[in-house]
Amino acid sequence: MMRTAGGWSRNPHTTAGDAVPHRREFTEAELAAYIAEALPVERSMALESELRTSTALRERLRAALAASDSGTLSVGAIWQQQRLSCPSRSTWAAYLAKELGDGLTEYLRFHLDEIGCRFCAANVADLQQASDPEAERRTRKYFQTSVGRLSQVAADDAG
Ligand SMILES: [Zn+2]
Repeated sequence: MMRTAGGWSRNPHTTAGDAVPHRREFTEAELAAYIAEALPVERSMALESELRTSTALRERLRAALAASDSGTLSVGAIWQQQRLSCPSRSTWAAYLAKELGDGLTEYLRFHLDEIGCRFCAANVADLQQASDPEAERRTRKYFQTSVGRLSQVAADDAG
């Protein structure tokens, strides 16, 4: 611990945004309970919301996950079962378009790669395909064909 001129040592991870009333640190027991799906819902939600912003907490969860990795249950499995914190499809679209800030991008990458959420992986794959220029061209071509046929039908009706 370092003492500054002011006599107080500040946790470098603490920011003004952390000053939430009633906030308390997650204990190792709570992380283990979360992994075991035994943490109360409100606390799970608080933990997941903090995971979005706290790199330190993600590291701790990662470590707890590795320590508890006895092949029974993974956080990924919990996440996939409950989909408690799955980002919305529009958020994933923004992620793919690199429109999100660093923190959220990192959280989504964590959700996708570390948690390995299959639901979101499917969503992302779908979005990637949708943004594929070839697929888009095919869709547009089909649309134009349809419009052309509709125009033809309208012309026939008018005649
Ligand atoms: Zn997900």
